[in-house]
Amino acid sequence: MFVSESLGVNEKGHLVFGGHDTVDLSEKYGTPVYIMDEVLIRKNCRKFVNSMNENYDGNGRVIYASKAFSCKAMYKIINEENMGIDVVSGGEIYTAMQAGFPMEKAYFHGSNKSLSELEFAVKSGVGRIMVDNLFEMEKLIEISEKLDTVVNVIVRVKPGIEAETHSFIMTGQTDSKFGLDLDTGDAMKAIKMALSAEKIAFKGIHCHIGSQIFAVDSFEHAAKVMVGIMEDIKNETGYEVEELDLGGGFGIRYIEEHNPADFREYMEKVAVVIKEECAAKNLKTPFVIIEPGRSIVAEAGITLYTVGAIKTIPDCRTYVSVDGGMCDNPRYILYQSSYMAVIANKANEKADFCATIAGKCCESGDMIQEHTMIQKPESGDIMAVLSTGAYNYSMSSNYNRNPRPAVVMLNGDEERIVVKAETYEDLIRNDM
Ligand SMILES: *Cc1c(COP(=O)(O)O)cnc(C)c1O
Repeated sequence: MFVSESLGVNEKGHLVFGGHDTVDLSEKYGTPVYIMDEVLIRKNCRKFVNSMNENYDGNGRVIYASKAFSCKAMYKIINEENMGIDVVSGGEIYTAMQAGFPMEKAYFHGSNKSLSELEFAVKSGVGRIMVDNLFEMEKLIEISEKLDTVVNVIVRVKPGIEAETHSFIMTGQTDSKFGLDLDTGDAMKAIKMALSAEKIAFKGIHCHIGSQIFAVDSFEHAAKVMVGIMEDIKNETGYEVEELDLGGGFGIRYIEEHNPADFREYMEKVAVVIKEECAAKNLKTPFVIIEPGRSIVAEAGITLYTVGAIKTIPDCRTYVSVDGGMCDNPRYILYQSSYMAVIANKANEKADFCATIAGKCCESGDMIQEHTMIQKPESGDIMAVLSTGAYNYSMSSNYNRNPRPAVVMLNGDEERIVVKAETYEDLIRNDM
């Protein structure tokens, strides 16, 4: 029945998450509320880190793509798990610093970093700037000279791969706003600029082919293309790439039908491709970086709501409304993402009721899921939406002036609030 190992049902028939009764949690913290399981987050971190060590003999690093779920507590967990971070804005850099994260293990991504963000990153000692375009390369050279600081860069290229996923979360193809194109010569131009600039240290190349990818062969293909690019760079410049960042995008289970590839298979197969291709091309095996985001946190999170109005439209559908929606989970309205929902206080009952789960926001498209099977709902029930740990809190908004819900972190018997719920006063804090 369940999409994540943190889930279960107790003797009361209530949904259990991370060992806690979710109905009790809803009473204690109110709804809507995000609940995260630290045990599963750490377990996910370790499986990537261990597998990295096994397959690359420790010559690599796992960095958490923190846009999936970013808050001070999360950066602390990631630091304790000996991982690096991928940050994509001044705000994420600031949050990580406030959490005491060692910034030399931070990698700064983004397709249009502002000048002030770039300067902030360099001054903050961010370990690598992931250069996305020629304009940014120029600006970074200026900044490195102005601040008289050596800036380590990795150049993001488009490997020209179309991964099988939703077009909005596909990023490796030529028609993408991310990265430098190989065919136009822009990628090589950026690399030559980096190599000739006095205060820029060119470290390597990066690609990220998309998100929620199930097919290991997409990743193998990308790895092969990237090693080919390493060879081109060596032939054209004489420089041997030291670091190869293969991005993230590993798929997770939102619904029972989802069958993501075993990450072990991914790690093993991709490592084989890299080692074999490098040997064949007479290149040193590079330091390998991977950037999981969703696969660290998605299944380790659920959202609890209270069911409100229920409207049956004859011969059409039944709208089951919850006390949140696109303001705390905009993924359905953005890209029709799949989610599984459970009535938490009836988790042992059969899911034989077809519902359209509607949010409370003033948008017809504000839904969590359409035509999904749940236990027969009644107003006042607690509804859990599963696998909401990634790109939910981090994508939340105050649309309709809804305060953002709290994030509660469970850790075995312990529980703690890691992000407080917003109040009405928070909503007007910046109003003049
Ligand atoms: C979003 C992103 C990731 C993480 O993607 P997931 O699907 O969450 O694993 C990694 N690297 C880059 C550059 C990204 O933009």
